[in-house]
Amino acid sequence: MPSVFEVAQAQLNKAADLAKLDDKVKVILSQPKNEIIVNFPVLMDDGSYQLFKGYRIQHNNIMGPFKGGIRFHPEVHLDEVKALAAWMTWKCSLLEIPYGGAKGGIKFDPTQYSSRELERITRRFTHALGANIGPDYDIPAPDMGTNSQTMVWMMDTYMNSSPQERKNSMRGVVTGKSVTSGGSLGRDKATGQGLVFAVAAWAEEHQVDLSKCSFSVQGFGNVGSHSARLLQARGAKLKAVIDHTGGVYNANGIDALDLIAYAKQNKGGVAGYSKAEPINKLDFFATEVDIFIPAALEMQITAETAPLMKCRLVAEGANGPTDLDGERILLEKGVQFLPDILANAGGVTVSYFEWLQNRLSESWSEDVVDAKLLKMMNKAYHTMRSIAKEYKTDHRTAAYIHSLSRIQTVYRERGIFP
Ligand code: NAD
Repeated sequence: MPSVFEVAQAQLNKAADLAKLDDKVKVILSQPKNEIIVNFPVLMDDGSYQLFKGYRIQHNNIMGPFKGGIRFHPEVHLDEVKALAAWMTWKCSLLEIPYGGAKGGIKFDPTQYSSRELERITRRFTHALGANIGPDYDIPAPDMGTNSQTMVWMMDTYMNSSPQERKNSMRGVVTGKSVTSGGSLGRDKATGQGLVFAVAAWAEEHQVDLSKCSFSVQGFGNVGSHSARLLQARGAKLKAVIDHTGGVYNANGIDALDLIAYAKQNKGGVAGYSKAEPINKLDFFATEVDIFIPAALEMQITAETAPLMKCRLVAEGANGPTDLDGERILLEKGVQFLPDILANAGGVTVSYFEWLQNRLSESWSEDVVDAKLLKMMNKAYHTMRSIAKEYKTDHRTAAYIHSLSRIQTVYRERGIFP
């Protein structure tokens, strides 16, 4: 079975060949520019020290500063972070945001640590990264296992390591901060909001009435829960949810808001929700729905799960949720995709808005943020659709062609130094 990075490479190669990308550009983009690995000790609450391994992979910065999330998860590894960093490069270019791509993470399970330990781990990692991040160089954001609190700790550590007179201009070193500490209104829900905007653009084009649609969600964290409540607000019915604690199913529908409230009381997990029946992983994938939203880990839609799936659309909230077999099987069945680099781009788009607001010392209303996001998501969706028609190819490849062509134009204009 190919690794996550091999899947990302195969996606790149397919689009590069179809778009007849210059060989030198393809070679440059096939590996990240910088791979930073740090091992750092952290004081635990019991007085002992534990060593942590952290990664920051900077894939490409020809379009602007490196940009991408920080993941805290026991499965974080180099190959995964490399793939995630490359996907950020394609995503930012697709949305025409002036950023490159990066990703980072620490290999550990954040649910097993106290808040004080999480703070020390985050601050020590930020310190270890040192000058490898910065508001004009590389700008981290939240991802799996991290949130606005994590970002505020990172920002504070970075600011306090900067000269006094420049501290306040360093706020934009991370995005996804709390609104009070310099974040943007609408950032918390942005990835789910962007996904729902993309689904709505698809529904409008295909004359699908969302209020008659059902959907299921894998992962009920930031992306999964906001996607679920915003799609439900458009009348769609949530039939099944699964996360790391277990799955729940109700043919008559699950109230997303009620499930969010339940999960909050239940350490973030959906298992045990009494207004739905328990469901296992394979039955979850086999649940018939119009829209399937993966919003957890990579490589979930595979040769094992894709044959079970009965849906019209996969809207990829997660990064890289579909492997090569999974995508081939579903495309053969006529299932359409809103690929990750489009469907979950709302997060980085509103991160860009946050960074702009920090630079301008402005604070935009949520309506302004949503309206700007809608415009950018619609533009990216229709660009992808027109390229898919022109090249007679699938949505993922079409989205890649747009990203790669923009990057290639800049390499051709600037040349390769020296
Ligand atoms: P999160 O930590 O808030 O939530 C992750 C969810 O995945 C949790 O509900 C968890 O229970 C679930 N999960 C973990 N392991 C699982 C398993 N084995 N099976 C089923 N569910 C499992 O993370 P998030 O920020 O919502 O990120 C989810 C995905 O979305 C990731 O792929 C991330 O890269 C992607 N993404 C996030 C953002 C963002 O703004 N947060 C932006 C773009 C893409």
